[in-house]
Amino acid sequence: MAMLEIENLSAGYGNVQVLRDVSLSVDEGRIVALLGANGAGKTTLLNAIYGLHKPSSGTVVFRGRRIDDMPGDKIIEQGIAYLPEGGRLFPDMSVKENLEMGAYPRGLWRDRKRDLERVYKLLPRLGERKKQLARTMSGGERQMLAMGRCLMSDPKMCFFDELSYGLAPKMAQEVLGMVKELNAGGLSVLLVEQNVRQTLEVADYAYVMENGVIALEGEGRSLLDNEHVKKAYLGL
Ligand code: ATP
Repeated sequence: MAMLEIENLSAGYGNVQVLRDVSLSVDEGRIVALLGANGAGKTTLLNAIYGLHKPSSGTVVFRGRRIDDMPGDKIIEQGIAYLPEGGRLFPDMSVKENLEMGAYPRGLWRDRKRDLERVYKLLPRLGERKKQLARTMSGGERQMLAMGRCLMSDPKMCFFDELSYGLAPKMAQEVLGMVKELNAGGLSVLLVEQNVRQTLEVADYAYVMENGVIALEGEGRSLLDNEHVKKAYLGL
């Protein structure tokens, strides 16, 4: 059964419609990718799921409960954490302080010490660098820190928006490898990416969004052989 089920979601800005009847699901324990070019509507979809942008129609159900009318802090409590594009870290704060910001939503603050220890176990490099300032870290390390901040709420599912954006291919591979490791530990993931090739290598299933609609979907690796994907996204 799907853990996250989105049905016929539409959304836009003013009278410009961006998403049209988008349906997508993420089964428990899987990595599902949402791929597409700049401006396809991927971030709008994440924001619409996460209560940051009101959909004009459609439903979002997470673990059997409607969440499309819930505010973000309630959605965190349901077990979804969202890493927005660019990570939005506090550059002049330390690794530990940035992680603690992930415990800021109501109800999580009192457990922050336990949550910090759990995150340091999952991503030991953060534990080794707890006092380092975020701005002195490499791009890949900053993404790791942003992932760690998401994990502070002990989520069942994470939305990662453009984790590999701006990273050299080797670093992107490392960051996506961390996603795979977290998934092996039980985390379900919705991965939004423009980096089609590397993402399809780690995703169990993928959706390709074009101009606000799902144009194509299939098992991750099988899409690497799809003629449209090859031409439009892999330059083959
Ligand atoms: P990117 O990877 O560049 O973020 P995306 O696939 O996530 O691309 P969106 O950011 O969802 O795409 O944008 C989809 C469309 O909606 C684009 O045409 C964009 O210009 C428009 N759009 C996004 N945010 C707003 C906004 N706040 N107001 C008006 N239009 C917006």
